[in-house]
Amino acid sequence: EAPALRNPKLLVEACLIGAEWSKAGSGTIAVTNPATGTIVGTVPNAGAGETRQAIEAAHAAYPAWRGKTANERAVLLRKLAVLVSENQEDLARLLTAEQGKSLAEARAEVGMSAAYVLWFAEEARRVYGDVIPSPWPDRRVLVTKEPVGVVAAITPWNFPSSMIARKLGPALAAGCTIVIKPASQTPLSGLAWGLLAQEAGIPDGVVNILTGSAREIGAELTSNPLVKKITFTGSTEIGKVLLKQAAGTVKKVSMELGGNAPFIVFDDADLDRAVAGAMLAKYRNSGQTCICTNRVLVQDGIYDRFAQRMAEAADALKVGNGVEDGVMQGPLIDAAAIDKIEEHIKDAVDKGARVIAGGHRHALGGTFFQPTVMVDVVPGMAVAREETFGPLAPLFRFRDEAEAIRMANDTEFGLACYFYTRDLGRAFRVSEALEYGMVGINEGIITTEVAPFGGVKESGLGREGSYQGIEDYLSAKYVCVGGL
Ligand code: ADP
Repeated sequence: EAPALRNPKLLVEACLIGAEWSKAGSGTIAVTNPATGTIVGTVPNAGAGETRQAIEAAHAAYPAWRGKTANERAVLLRKLAVLVSENQEDLARLLTAEQGKSLAEARAEVGMSAAYVLWFAEEARRVYGDVIPSPWPDRRVLVTKEPVGVVAAITPWNFPSSMIARKLGPALAAGCTIVIKPASQTPLSGLAWGLLAQEAGIPDGVVNILTGSAREIGAELTSNPLVKKITFTGSTEIGKVLLKQAAGTVKKVSMELGGNAPFIVFDDADLDRAVAGAMLAKYRNSGQTCICTNRVLVQDGIYDRFAQRMAEAADALKVGNGVEDGVMQGPLIDAAAIDKIEEHIKDAVDKGARVIAGGHRHALGGTFFQPTVMVDVVPGMAVAREETFGPLAPLFRFRDEAEAIRMANDTEFGLACYFYTRDLGRAFRVSEALEYGMVGINEGIITTEVAPFGGVKESGLGREGSYQGIEDYLSAKYVCVGGL
């Protein structure tokens, strides 16, 4: 059933194409609540035709939007940020209903969405160019920044609100218009952005939102020459497909892809702090974030104590429907997610690992899973290489700093990593040796709108947040003024 909202209009069951709320498409997609299995709402199953219309609407709206002053765009984006904040409770309830995360986490995500939009409203006015000392006495060398044009954004189900904020915010601030395709599991949080954008007074066609067939919509977005940039958050597998498709028309790309985050605990770590950090870095959103630690690497001398503390903390996590009081861990997104975690546990146990907390489907049934901790995990196991994307903490053992660095970097991914130490020299050495886009030193939660979020290696291209987040939506134009 639909969540009780103060403003029921926020549950939108239509796509936004230009000025129109459209139900066009081949049939509909039912959105289910992963905690209860009930239907939250129904959205259109749009395809290539609707996508073309949305792209054309974004293209038509582009000249007027880029022609506004930066301050005019900033004023509208600030209004949008205020509306997101004012509707935080409703948006959080909608998010929990379709995604499953606890209400506390959903509120935090919506708060983060508002923070991103506000940040980029501010950045809109700081798109500076350069005047470069000229190598010629009679010429001047100028560089200006221009919006890249129509942007297509494809977003995932794990952060259905804030992943849109990180793309829509900088795109609109830069003067781009946008077509957004939210994940089919969580389209309602995405469609709500359309209503709020209209309410903020953002002109028709600047924001377009389509729900439906990922393959069809994705193919049109990546091949249509009117689209100048693809920004995607999701799996490395689909990211590679989109990169190949976007090559046909040489689009700009931003990719936030998978991770395999190590969480390294050295013997000299503050144990309390390390356990608290590992719990957040592992079990937030039931382990379903691309920066969740996938591998906990613990030094010999502290291994047993850390393992025991981690198991106690995992056993203490309250699992349940995210809307219930005190629940810290909701269900997983779908049955496939349960299969994956079970496969990883079975593979590890078959190869000699031991489960010391959880390990099974939760008594609540459905897609609930027990927060799990495993010890004696070694590099040959599947968990060492593949992202589990679930509440499983596998504890690997290492002897010294060099071994920890080698194990941490032994992956094709390079998104986030974490380590705990009280030795200042080690903090610098290890931070510089880790091949990752983001490092948490004695911190398990590091995301903020003011810092650049993104990965190296197969974890992605580009950065979101910070001043760099808007650069990704701008092209430099070099202007040479001669004959002076
Ligand atoms: P996850 O494994 O987290 O579900 P995906 O990469 O499969 O991540 O999905 C992330 C987003 O990419 C979703 O919006 C999904 O609908 C979309 N997507 C999936 N397959 C394709 C595709 N072939 N083309 C374009 N988008 C796709």
